[in-house]
Amino acid sequence: MAKAGHVIGTHPVDNGGIDMAVRRSAGAGMSAVQIFTTIPKFYGDKSTIRGERVERFKKALADTGMKPEHIIVHGVYVLNAATEDAEKWGRTTAALTKEMERSTTLGVGGVCFHPGATPRPDGPEAGAERVARAMAHALAAVPGSTKLLVENSAGAGTTFGKDVREVGLILAALPKELRKRAGYGLDTCHMFVSGYDIKSSQDALTRVLDEFEEAAGEAPSFFHLNDSIGALGSNKDRHCLIGDGEIGEEPFGWLLADPRSRGIPLLLETPQQNVDVADDDPAGDPYDARMLAVLRRLGAEA
Ligand SMILES: [Zn+2]
Ligand SMILES: [Zn+2]
Repeated sequence: MAKAGHVIGTHPVDNGGIDMAVRRSAGAGMSAVQIFTTIPKFYGDKSTIRGERVERFKKALADTGMKPEHIIVHGVYVLNAATEDAEKWGRTTAALTKEMERSTTLGVGGVCFHPGATPRPDGPEAGAERVARAMAHALAAVPGSTKLLVENSAGAGTTFGKDVREVGLILAALPKELRKRAGYGLDTCHMFVSGYDIKSSQDALTRVLDEFEEAAGEAPSFFHLNDSIGALGSNKDRHCLIGDGEIGEEPFGWLLADPRSRGIPLLLETPQQNVDVADDDPAGDPYDARMLAVLRRLGAEA
């Protein structure tokens, strides 16, 4: 069997709509994309998606040849499924459920989300159980093939999901019948600033991926490819262009050489040059085109 290639995408500006985000990622030469389905600074727990918007999105996928399973929706930033605060947890669960509804209607491969934050004086088990309960609610309420994916966090303050143990515990706490519709993804910047030294050697990077795979019982479902402004272990969640940060280019080449990076979305969340792009302009962002060239030079078959 032929080896799967690399599936690279970006999270572009969505001026003009999510269909235009698809076109801009394709315009930069990419075959995957990440989008928001609602404004990320609000819960969006009442926000439904109009049929006309869905049609335009599907038309953009058909026109660009982008596969629905390679599209990731990023959950809103305000979600906090780990919290002990019952009201916030309830609002998060409603928002996550609504997100699964919109994303399943769009037919995308997965929804990724940040698990939130909680103090954990007695260890991470209770927090993991709350995140899993919110996920289980959303998955049970919205049948379909769209997966719900935990993203590892940068570890600032009490943010949850910062290490292999917490990601593993969340997934292990899911009811068995829903577990197969869940998974996780790894952000290179978040791994690095939460203390995983993925830049010291190729072996070190491989070991980190092995640790996550062992704790979760499976390989990641996506990667976020971001260089980091913050230093190793700084817990600073600031992305920058690959090669401009503390990680540097080389480790991205090692990641591309790992078979676990093939066949799944590898998504850039790096700066965009044209943030004020016109609504009807489908041109790829120059920074994204540059990042794709860098990744190809580092070995990406994309
Ligand atoms: Zn990310
Ligand atoms: Zn980040």
